[in-house]
Amino acid sequence: MMLFPDSRSADETGMLTAHRNTTKTTENTQMSKKLKIALTPGDGIGPEIMEAVLHIFEAAGVMNHIEFAEAIMGERVFKQGNSSGISDEAISVVEQTGLLFKGPMGTPIGGGGKSINVTLRKKFSAFANLRHFQSLPGVETVFSKAGVPVDFYVVRENVEDTYGGIEHRLTADVVECKRLISAPGCDQVHRFAFETAKRLGISEVTCSHKANIMKMTDGLFLDRFRNTATDYPDIATNDVIIDALCMNLVLRPDKYQMIVLPNLQGDIVSDLAAGLVGGLGFAPSANIGERMAIFEAVHGTAPDIAGKGVANPTSLLLSGLIMLRHIGLAKQAAIINNALLATLEDGIHTGDVRGEKPPVRTMEFAGAVAEHLGKMPTTCTPRVVGTQDTVSFVPPSRPTNYTLRRTNETTVSHVCGADIYIGTTISPMELAQRLQQITEFGPFKLTLLSNRGTQVWPSGSVYTEIVDYFRARFELKDPSMLGKIGQAPTFALLAKVGEKFEVTDFQPLKMFDGKPGFSLAQGQ
Ligand code: NAD
Repeated sequence: MMLFPDSRSADETGMLTAHRNTTKTTENTQMSKKLKIALTPGDGIGPEIMEAVLHIFEAAGVMNHIEFAEAIMGERVFKQGNSSGISDEAISVVEQTGLLFKGPMGTPIGGGGKSINVTLRKKFSAFANLRHFQSLPGVETVFSKAGVPVDFYVVRENVEDTYGGIEHRLTADVVECKRLISAPGCDQVHRFAFETAKRLGISEVTCSHKANIMKMTDGLFLDRFRNTATDYPDIATNDVIIDALCMNLVLRPDKYQMIVLPNLQGDIVSDLAAGLVGGLGFAPSANIGERMAIFEAVHGTAPDIAGKGVANPTSLLLSGLIMLRHIGLAKQAAIINNALLATLEDGIHTGDVRGEKPPVRTMEFAGAVAEHLGKMPTTCTPRVVGTQDTVSFVPPSRPTNYTLRRTNETTVSHVCGADIYIGTTISPMELAQRLQQITEFGPFKLTLLSNRGTQVWPSGSVYTEIVDYFRARFELKDPSMLGKIGQAPTFALLAKVGEKFEVTDFQPLKMFDGKPGFSLAQGQ
């Protein structure tokens, strides 16, 4: 009996993006020249697991087709005082190749240094993060013991959301993180998800979100999912609120084939999913954009085991196999994948996995996979070994300028008011009184005060605890003025409020195609 049936072995012959040139002439040209791929071994366990993966690639003959150009980034660069963690030379190598194979890299906590992993995805617009979570033979989990096969993909939006890292300290007591979700950003990731589903033979795609609470941001993510789905009538769709998804995944992970999520939720669900299939050591990941693809393990630098030679290289190896399929070396990817499955089936494992046999070290594991090349697994469906064994990837051309993406080009907007954020410790009643004096003359009136998003004026509850940061909402006194004023009067209002109060933030309110482009306060 197949313990871990894999209905999607066909993905061995697939490609992730359109950067594939199928003409014979180009393939022949590529055959005579090795494809250059940027590589960074990473920090912590990175160099150890990268060495293991490259050993397997060498043994499988992959290095006859590709060569790596080292792109220096990570800890070394941070230590040189470069707060981006990536040198200009490394950027140039990555841009030229369009491909980056990377080990995990650490992020300095505090001190302003940004995550280099996030920087790379954002800088190169690798907008979709594809992760495959699959039960593997020899890797015991609660589901493998119960005979429940886990085999699903997570597609995480990769460049927007709170990962913009736009954060400010607003008052003595309050900080904020701006969460940006764009229609083109949603469209890109949803289309990628559906295209990937189509290619892998996935019959249902699930969108997960928190649109019941974040009606505008997650609401847009869900709305664009439904919109994109109309182009894929053969693929069933549904949506699930993120908290329910987490429970469902723990109870019945076999219910899902592909889940598409916004960035932060996708990040969290990915690690949860890794836990379902035996841990972070088994979860591969690809970051895909129009012009760039970055392949990396889901896990981090594992500082607790770095330098000990015991890390599990499987996650990085599986990520490397997605890369091989991406560039056209599908046959080699399948052979290595089968060798990995056969190795695990033989009970060979690193220390992060429980097993009957004693654990082996990282390079011993790599050696075992190399020795299993040509062998097929017997307790799970082997990967289909196709014939595509030459590089068909063509590095994309360099854009000449920034690319503007637009979805709603014909939307008409009109200013109808402003939200002005004020740092103060006076009471809501007193604040309202003083703001009403300011707006006695002029086109706007005070309609709302809220604190941490909850209405505290004109009505509210004294049970609502408040902090030193209010939102004052001003709207047109005369609604018939909509469309007749520009944004200048809102700035005049801002200047007046700024004379009397500490203003921390300002947001003009607009109607878009006649619908309010702002949310109500809680309790409004
Ligand atoms: P981590 O993934 O490095 O480690 C979590 C736990 O999993 C540790 O106990 C570790 O030993 C274990 N583990 C991870 N990978 C393993 C492997 N291949 N084999 C065996 N055990 C493994 O997470 P963390 O400790 O939260 O993060 C450490 C650093 O890594 C941080 O600086 C973080 O920012 C960075 N990080 C980088 C990436 C990336 O490069 N994409 C991803 C996540 C975290």
